[in-house]
Amino acid sequence: MRELLSKKDFNLIIRAIDRVWSRSLRYKEILHSYRIVDDTPNKDGSTRKKPLYWIICDTCKGKFRAAEIQIDHSFPVVPVYTTTWEMNIDYYIQRRHCSPKDNLRPLCKPCHKVKSKYERQERKKWANK
Ligand SMILES: [Zn+2]
Repeated sequence: MRELLSKKDFNLIIRAIDRVWSRSLRYKEILHSYRIVDDTPNKDGSTRKKPLYWIICDTCKGKFRAAEIQIDHSFPVVPVYTTTWEMNIDYYIQRRHCSPKDNLRPLCKPCHKVKSKYERQERKKWANK
């Protein structure tokens, strides 16, 4: 079946799988599990009507709102010694969606970008070996 897909079509499927993950209930539950309540009162001393939540980035230790945080797979979904194209789609889904929680951690978007870039570079080094 794989031979029916161009690389571009295949990448569209991979991106769709990634999007489903980031919108899944499990993703939201994991994200929420990292929230810490900020119960500092308002400037006028009154208590907040709505609680304020922060999530600490596992790399830079900065304080972020949930929308600025992404759940990272510490050990990447696509191991550095292979490429997405070489992976079986079921295995990809399993690694993207079923990663044990100890392989997941909250990262702010800039830190996640740096880590992903590093992984891509490592993958290239492997490919050129
Ligand atoms: Zn960070």
